[in-house]
Amino acid sequence: MDGTSVMTEAGVMPEAYGGSEALATLHRVFGYEAFRGEQEAIIEHVVAGGDAVVLMPTGGGKSLCYQIPALVRPGTGVVVSPLIALMQDQVDALRALGVRAGFVNSTQDFDERRVVEAEFLAGELDLLYLAPERLRLESTLDLLSRGKISLFAIDEAHCVSQWGHDFRPDYLALSLLGERWPDVPRIALTATATHATHQEITQRLNIPAARHFVASFDRPNIQYRIVPKADPKKQLLSFLREEHAGDAGIVYCLSRNSVEKTAEFLTRNGVEAVPYHAGLDAGTRAAHQSRFLREDGLVVVATIAFGMGIDKPDVRFVAHLDLPKSVEGYYQETGRAGRDGLPSTAWMAYGLNDVIQQRKLIQSGEGDEAFRRRSQGHLDAMLALCETVHCRRGQLLAYFGQDAEAGACGNCDTCLVPPDTWDGTIAAQKVLSTVWRLDRERRQKFGAVQIVDILLGRRTAKVIQFDHDQLSVFGIGEELTEGEWRGVVRQLLAQGLLAVEGEYGTLVLTEASGEVLGRKREVPLRKEPKKPAASRSSSGTARSDRKPRTAAAELPPELAPAFEALRAWRAEQAREQGVPAYVIFHDATLREIATVWPSTVAELGGVSGVGEKKLATYGEGVLGVLKSLSGTPDTATPTTPDDWPQEEPEPEDHEGPEDWAAGI
Ligand code: ADP
Ligand code: ZN
Repeated sequence: MDGTSVMTEAGVMPEAYGGSEALATLHRVFGYEAFRGEQEAIIEHVVAGGDAVVLMPTGGGKSLCYQIPALVRPGTGVVVSPLIALMQDQVDALRALGVRAGFVNSTQDFDERRVVEAEFLAGELDLLYLAPERLRLESTLDLLSRGKISLFAIDEAHCVSQWGHDFRPDYLALSLLGERWPDVPRIALTATATHATHQEITQRLNIPAARHFVASFDRPNIQYRIVPKADPKKQLLSFLREEHAGDAGIVYCLSRNSVEKTAEFLTRNGVEAVPYHAGLDAGTRAAHQSRFLREDGLVVVATIAFGMGIDKPDVRFVAHLDLPKSVEGYYQETGRAGRDGLPSTAWMAYGLNDVIQQRKLIQSGEGDEAFRRRSQGHLDAMLALCETVHCRRGQLLAYFGQDAEAGACGNCDTCLVPPDTWDGTIAAQKVLSTVWRLDRERRQKFGAVQIVDILLGRRTAKVIQFDHDQLSVFGIGEELTEGEWRGVVRQLLAQGLLAVEGEYGTLVLTEASGEVLGRKREVPLRKEPKKPAASRSSSGTARSDRKPRTAAAELPPELAPAFEALRAWRAEQAREQGVPAYVIFHDATLREIATVWPSTVAELGGVSGVGEKKLATYGEGVLGVLKSLSGTPDTATPTTPDDWPQEEPEPEDHEGPEDWAAGI
């Protein structure tokens, strides 16, 4: 269908804009000013009938790359997506923009499906979403060949990769699309960035002539931080209270058990949180996901089972309480924060036990030697990111083969507070020779705890039992604290100067250890940062150098009441219509409305994110909210209705760990 079909309601804007049809559609339907990055080139290419492979980070704006061509080209754009649970929301969001969208999947009954199929055949759909397994059915292929198709968009295209963790066999059948519809352009999209995946997509989807578009994988609005793990749940709570009170976010944990416990802990401490993992029944999972999408400011605590394709734009933080297995995983998971481009945080607590646990998992896991080596390589890259003294963003981008802008990014922890290094050669030798002495005994294997106890000269029951107080290394490490020693061990493991063996996490030497013991190699170590003293208090002035990242807090204070009033109005609309709040308007749009303070429909139409249909549907409502706040923002003394979101109470004082380095 051509794009004009969507502009029936409000007669504002059109010709003033000129430019291409794609640009006109961007203005009219989506209400956005300009294309971002590669969007324009991609859209032009696909509108002209070309195939494309698009690699763009989460939040980069992939959807428009197929939605606009589908609106501009005649026929229906068929979108293949594995995310059945999200199709309804995607379609709702498009319909709210005035786009004629529908989906066919297994959640529908026969009649619902028939309606959508009839709309498709009558040429009344701009976009049709399908699950990949549908395309295996001859009946679906038959249906498609009876209608007119403008393009095929293959979303989450990395699912075709057999090496990736998201592999879906149904994706392999998509190679047939080109044979059956040689004249219909295909566009494959993914946020997975490695070269190997990229190649595989081209091959397995059989789009050899596709033009490749690779966007920068930098997410400048995400602040990356990795802190030493002491008491992770408490650390998380302080982080949330100090920087993300009332914000929506995702907390990732490795095990179902820790997911449950963490969600309980947060709820008990006044942070509304729900668990999500594969052990919960499908109904509970769907309910929790739906609440996360629909409510403002809910926290989901999840295993990695959660999150793919979640296109909630206002996820303000992603926290990791356990170490991800690879940099790809870390990047994907943290990438779910801040799709709307507003400041967001990727925060992780990481410690010695993470390293030991992950190394053990690889050792005892299934798979052949090659698989193990690959997993080991992935983990090593992740550890290097954790232990780096350089810019984390630079390291992350380098991993994906992209150069960071020259110098430091200024928005990661190592840039904000550059960590010190120290010459850890002697400390390393002390640890390694202790490991060597214990290893020589061969009778019993020992882990990190015993090593540290020996170095500190502690006569624990286990030290006495094995006569370890008789060793020449007993008590030679009193210059460092327990936490510092654990930090040394962790970094030796991360650098491959120590290894883990067996189910008890026994420490053993590696080939490289010999170089350190033989004084042929120096060992620079990262100094464990102390927790800034200020943040132990609950005065609210803690870390004044760090701005809270809540959406409202970014606004000048005099505009906050308007923003909150608009949010309350939006929540009401969302409830009435049963759609997520961001389907009505994004936070970024509400902020701009609060800033511009439009008094006419035409002025409101100039705000980014207010397209024709939304202007027609909500224009009066929004203006009404602003009018109800007396006067302009400068003179306004708005009243606060009872049902407005209230300020979070001052967080209660709670014990902070004495020293972040302790008990890493
Ligand atoms: P992706 O699928 O790549 O993760 P989306 O397509 O969901 O990203 O886009 C991310 C966010 O950016 C969405 O909120 C979208 O509306 C917004 N967006 C995309 N393109 C533009 C643009 N040209 N101007 C303004 N906002 C945009
Ligand atoms: Zn940086």
